[in-house]
Amino acid sequence: MSFVPAVGPADEEIAGWWYCFQRAHLLVREDGSGESAVPRTPGVSALGLRPDTVQLLGTHDGIPCLAAGLDAAPAALPPGYRFVHLRELFGVLPDEQFAIATRAAHLAQWDLAHRFCGRCGKPLALKSDERARVCLACGQLYYPQISPAVIVAVCRGDQILLARSPRFPPGTYSVLAGFVEAGETVEACVHREIREEVGIEVAHLRYIGSQPWPYPNSLMLGFMAEYAGGEIRVDGVEILEAAWFTPDALPGLPGPGSFARVLLDHYLRRVGASPEGRSAAHEGRRPSCR
Ligand SMILES: [Zn+2]
Repeated sequence: MSFVPAVGPADEEIAGWWYCFQRAHLLVREDGSGESAVPRTPGVSALGLRPDTVQLLGTHDGIPCLAAGLDAAPAALPPGYRFVHLRELFGVLPDEQFAIATRAAHLAQWDLAHRFCGRCGKPLALKSDERARVCLACGQLYYPQISPAVIVAVCRGDQILLARSPRFPPGTYSVLAGFVEAGETVEACVHREIREEVGIEVAHLRYIGSQPWPYPNSLMLGFMAEYAGGEIRVDGVEILEAAWFTPDALPGLPGPGSFARVLLDHYLRRVGASPEGRSAAHEGRRPSCR
């Protein structure tokens, strides 16, 4: 990746790639064919925007990248521009730009929420030598908040445990996820979340990978785990339904771009089924997902 992170002074007149966020919605330019692109302009004011925060992200192939945060959607945008939820731009923006946009979304939302000191109430300034804000009155430092969360695919033989939260569209199931609590290890969080949400015990945790999830500041840590005991019992609040599924009878699943989908594809490959749905189980084998 040719993106190089950097900190430094930033203002509305810097020429470069402007990643302008209103919450998790990114400003894109759309041409007549429906293509979406991040604007590259001589300054964000050229788009008629007056962002509430501006931060230098770094350079992409030598060109400055800036994150702008807007508290509210502007009354008017230039013709051909609109705000689009970042999730909808997965696979639409080039991968490098999507990764920069993920970083920008996180930092713009952090910036908007950290303009005043939580200790003494005075305005905060961006530090010039590291990614932080500092209170010039009391010296309190604020670094970008990153909230770790676990996301776990639990397997039992060739089956996978999937659950439905009230936030999901009807018929859609996913793997389990939850935030790490203060003072808790990531491993303990996996065991606690699964126990709390579906009442079962797991073993043999295997770390698969991670994904920044800037809605607004999560870092998803993905695991595979093995069923170790207990019966499914849901609370009916956080989780409405949960069940074991085989690869040839999966319900509606999260779309591409989420780490849930990475884990599901990992599971399907492990049990000999392609992510497109071909299943080794159809051939009479009973593989394990370990
Ligand atoms: Zn202060």
